[in-house]
Amino acid sequence: MIDITFPDGSVRAFEKGVTGYEIAKSISPRLAEEVLAVAVKPATDTTVGKGVTYDLDRPIEEDSSIVLLKWDDDEGKRVFWHSSSHLMAEALEDIFPGVKFGIGPAIENGFYYDVDLGGRQITDADFPKIEKRMLELAREKQDFVRQDVSKADALKHFEQTGDKYKCELINDLADGTITYYTNGHFTDLCRGPHLRNTEVIKAVKLTAIAGAYWRGDEKREQLTRIYGISFPKKSMLDEYLVLLEEAKKRDHRKLGKEMELFTFSSRVGLGLPLWLPRGAVMRYELEKFLRKKQNEYGYLPVVTPHIGSKELYVTSGHYAKYGKDSFQPIHTPQEGEEYMLKPMNCPHHCEIFRSEPRSYKDLPLRLAEFGTVYRYEQSGELHGLTRVRSFTQDDAHMFVTPDQLKGEFEKVIDLILYVFRIFKFDKYTAQVSLRDPDNRSKYIGSDENWEKAENAIIEAANEKGLKTVVEYGEAAFYGPKLDFMVKDAIGRKWQLGTIQVDYNLPERFQLEYTDADGSKKRPIMIHRAPFGSIERFTAVLLEHTSGHLPLWLSPDQIKVLPVSEKYAEYAKKVCGLLNNSDIRASVDDRNETLGKRIREISLLRVPVLVIVGEKEVADGTVSVRRDGADAGTMKVEDFIAWFKAEVAKELA
Ligand SMILES: [Zn+2]
Ligand SMILES: [Zn+2]
Repeated sequence: MIDITFPDGSVRAFEKGVTGYEIAKSISPRLAEEVLAVAVKPATDTTVGKGVTYDLDRPIEEDSSIVLLKWDDDEGKRVFWHSSSHLMAEALEDIFPGVKFGIGPAIENGFYYDVDLGGRQITDADFPKIEKRMLELAREKQDFVRQDVSKADALKHFEQTGDKYKCELINDLADGTITYYTNGHFTDLCRGPHLRNTEVIKAVKLTAIAGAYWRGDEKREQLTRIYGISFPKKSMLDEYLVLLEEAKKRDHRKLGKEMELFTFSSRVGLGLPLWLPRGAVMRYELEKFLRKKQNEYGYLPVVTPHIGSKELYVTSGHYAKYGKDSFQPIHTPQEGEEYMLKPMNCPHHCEIFRSEPRSYKDLPLRLAEFGTVYRYEQSGELHGLTRVRSFTQDDAHMFVTPDQLKGEFEKVIDLILYVFRIFKFDKYTAQVSLRDPDNRSKYIGSDENWEKAENAIIEAANEKGLKTVVEYGEAAFYGPKLDFMVKDAIGRKWQLGTIQVDYNLPERFQLEYTDADGSKKRPIMIHRAPFGSIERFTAVLLEHTSGHLPLWLSPDQIKVLPVSEKYAEYAKKVCGLLNNSDIRASVDDRNETLGKRIREISLLRVPVLVIVGEKEVADGTVSVRRDGADAGTMKVEDFIAWFKAEVAKELA
């Protein structure tokens, strides 16, 4: 018999070789139907985490802790989607005989398979046929059968079928570690895990086709990447399609264009956003908003250059870690002199700390900068404003004594929660990333300091009433951190806001302060960015609000529209009064119908429209529309007061 420990801590004895499926069935038939895979962690395994995910029919041979994984578990979904990629491959074999396969992993939303169609073309028009075949095969209730195979046999098999990509993968594997999985007539080289059988796959949708180089190497074959998603219920697919439609409407790249906020130019370079005048206004407002709050918290502004000597990044360790995959050093006419575009602001800030002797009385020292950094993301990874090669971090670094760490952490949490509240991100969770307690040697800094920092983060998070998940082994090698995940208006998760403790840079830059007793001490550094970056935050905010930004942030807060040219003079006068009151307003007196002008302005998502005609001119009033709805007619000075009150409400 073996002991199986459940997540609630309870322990039950089972026959050696019991499977996840049998365990689930012994609990309830319903659970057996819902469970997709099982995470197994042998009692002898002292690493952190849930262990290894097993197929439900794979025997468990020793005392273990298990987690039965269902659709609601990320890992459950992964198994489901990865299994669906095998199902798609089987369908593709039927429809495109002789198709060769690369890899077919699960991804964040669904799965893909890279295939070589041997010169044949595939388009969206083929999707329904493939989906139909997948569902037919799924209904056959094909088991996913796992089989250990020797390297020689595996090579022989795939040489016979002509799968050169699989042969290449096998060559990289060690003998004794190779497994096949077969469903129906499709046999794949795969590590697993998979579903028990295909029957649970009730709905599939192929979503996109893209080109993908074999092994990401542009000198190798170009394969066709087919994306799809699948669900255990038809209704889930329907919901997903509605969400997808809504997400498309909210896509920040589309909104950015309609609202004239930013653009890209291939001549300027991939992933280098160009902020248009309206976007630049929005940026300034975001910065102003944060600057004001940071002033209240005692931050000091600094400004540093966009480049730094290579030496700086050798000192910081960034060069050794990222140098090869970054923008390469910039050479100067001076032989041997090299500079780098800055990938991070921290090294510059460390040098500012070092620029004069520091005493414990100077701490915490909080240096803040909207610092633009440059990172060479792969071109395939670039996406709108969420993945770019140049972006501006709302960065700040605190230099603190160990005793100040917790208090400072709480202040940063307060600031981040303030940001979430103002932007109406009401649903968020926080992840505390700590050391792997069983592998302490891979972290820099003393045990004592780590314990102090980890406890400080946990206590600070608890005292602020945050809903947190603690992840062991997820800390950076240089310190523990706290990351915030927000849910947007349509339920998608985004990572926003991060606070990170760092023992490494103060060490590398030999930072020190004089303590009360006259001794030299090393400060601790905290990195934090509530927005993450202006670019990414803008993208998330546009998708969250569908482009309906708060009044205070809208590039054009008000458009003044005369019903006809006759009232243009009055419109300009009203606009002048608004501008004098620091309101961003402009007149649209183009020679177009009012209806047409309103439709065009609605694309810009100007929140407030002021319409003036004969009656308004006579009474000294304006007719106001807020987000498309009538907000009444007011005297101009009352309107200004109303507008200011609305803005104040948003920022309260
Ligand atoms: Zn597989
Ligand atoms: Zn930093």
